[in-house]
Amino acid sequence: MELIYFPEPGGRYPDDIRMDGVTYHVYSDYAALPETVSPGSVFVLSLADRDSAFRLLHALRQDPRTGLQPVFTTTAFGFPLDQVSDGRVESALDAYTRARAIVDRLGRLDESVFAPGASDQLRILGYLYSRPELHLVPQRLWSSEGFYSYPVLEAMLGTPQLVATRLLALCDRKLLRRGQLNDRVRHCPACDGAHLNFVDLCPNCRHLDIVQQPFLHCFTCGAVAPEERFVDQDGLRCPNCYASLRHIGTDYDRPLENFSCTSCGHTFIEPEVQARCMHCTTLTPPDRLTPRTVCTYELTDLGVQAAESGTMEDVFALLDTVNSVSPTYFLNLVNWLLALARRHNEERFTIIGLRLQNMVELNARLGQQPVLDMMDTLATRLRELVRSTDLSTRTGQQMFWLLLPKTGQAQHRIVLDRILALRNLLPDGGGIDFETVVFSAPEDMQPDATGKLLLARLE
Ligand SMILES: [Zn+2]
Ligand SMILES: [Zn+2]
Ligand SMILES: [Zn+2]
Repeated sequence: MELIYFPEPGGRYPDDIRMDGVTYHVYSDYAALPETVSPGSVFVLSLADRDSAFRLLHALRQDPRTGLQPVFTTTAFGFPLDQVSDGRVESALDAYTRARAIVDRLGRLDESVFAPGASDQLRILGYLYSRPELHLVPQRLWSSEGFYSYPVLEAMLGTPQLVATRLLALCDRKLLRRGQLNDRVRHCPACDGAHLNFVDLCPNCRHLDIVQQPFLHCFTCGAVAPEERFVDQDGLRCPNCYASLRHIGTDYDRPLENFSCTSCGHTFIEPEVQARCMHCTTLTPPDRLTPRTVCTYELTDLGVQAAESGTMEDVFALLDTVNSVSPTYFLNLVNWLLALARRHNEERFTIIGLRLQNMVELNARLGQQPVLDMMDTLATRLRELVRSTDLSTRTGQQMFWLLLPKTGQAQHRIVLDRILALRNLLPDGGGIDFETVVFSAPEDMQPDATGKLLLARLE
C-alpha cells in the first residue's frame, strides 16, 4: 500500500507512524503527482480549507488513474464533500485500517479500469465493486439541477447529465439494478430541467394577473359580475339591467365563477395550472411533464464480472456495429410487432438470440487483443448477414439479439444456419462459442407476452 499525503502548504507529514508494507509520499498538489500512480494508493488530504479540498478531491476522482482509490480528509467538510471522499480519518493508522478492504478489492480489478482512457461505465462499476457495502443513494440537493445528485459520480464524470446517461446505460446492460425507489421528479419536456414553478393562469389569454373575488348572478338579465360592481348605496343593484336585488335565491345567487382576469376581463371557475420551467421559461401543463424516478443503484452479479474482466465491455461493444439500437428501443419495437401480429394474422417476425458462452474464459486464456480480433470478425460477419431492416441489441454481457421483421419460420432457418456456421470461423475449437435461441411470431406467441417477458424467457 502507498500512502500519499497532501499537507497544508508548508506543512509536512507526521513521520512518527511507520507500518510494514506501507510506503509514504508527500505531494504539494494534484499536479505534482507522478505519471504512474499505483491502484494500491491511498490519499490523505490534510487540508483545512474547503475550497482547496474540493478542488483536489474532484481532480483525484476525475482522473481514471486516481479516481477509485480511497481518499480521506483530516477535516470533516459535511455534505456533499464527505461523500466524494471516503470520509474523515484521525491518523495515518486510521487511514491504513479503513483503506485496506478497498485496496484489496481494487487489486482484483482488471488494470484497464485505471487506464487514462477507461470508460465511464467501467469506472462506475469499479467504484462500486471496491466498496461492496455501498449502494448509490441519490442525495437531495436543492441547488442541483435535477434536485438529486450522486456526488461521487458527478465528481468522477463531471456533469449530472453524463451520470444520468451512464446509469441508464448500465441498467440497460444489466450491470446495475435499480434498488429502492426514493422519489419521482417531473422534468420540463423542452430542456429536461426540474426547477418548475406552478402558476395559475387565465384560461382565455394565459395572463398571470388573475384575481379571486365573490361573484353575483342577476336572475333578471343573467349578468354575472364581481360582487363589488353590484354594490349601490341602497344595497345591491345589477350593473347591467339596474334591477334591485333583494333576496338571494329569488333575485340573484352566487355563481360558480369566482376568478376574473385583469388583462382580458374573462371570468372563470378554475384557473389553468401550468408549470413554468425556471431554466428555459417553457410553459407545460402538469400532465405533459416528463416524470422520472429517482432511485438507489446496486451492482449486479454481471456488473461484478464486468468490473473484474475490465475492458471486456469493449469486446462486447464491437457487436454494437451490427445495426444496433438501445435495449429499450428494441423492446418497444418488439411490443409493437407483437401488437401487430395479434391484430393481423399474416404479420410475422423472428427474434434470434445469441448467448455468448466463453468470452471471459477466452479473455483470460488468450489475452485481450486476440479476443478483440475474434469479436471483430464475428461482428463483421453478422453485419454481412443482416438486412438493413434487421436490428440488434445487447442485454447483459452475453446476450446478443437480432430482430428480423417480416420474417417467418421458413426464412429465418436460412439466417440461423448462416449464424451457426459462424461458429466454425476459427479452427481447433479455439473460437467464440455461442448458443442460439429463436422466437417466431405468430407460431411461438403467448397471449400475455410483452417484449420484456419474451426476452427474459428466452434468455
Ligand atoms: Zn425547460
Ligand atoms: Zn341584471
Ligand atoms: Zn385573460
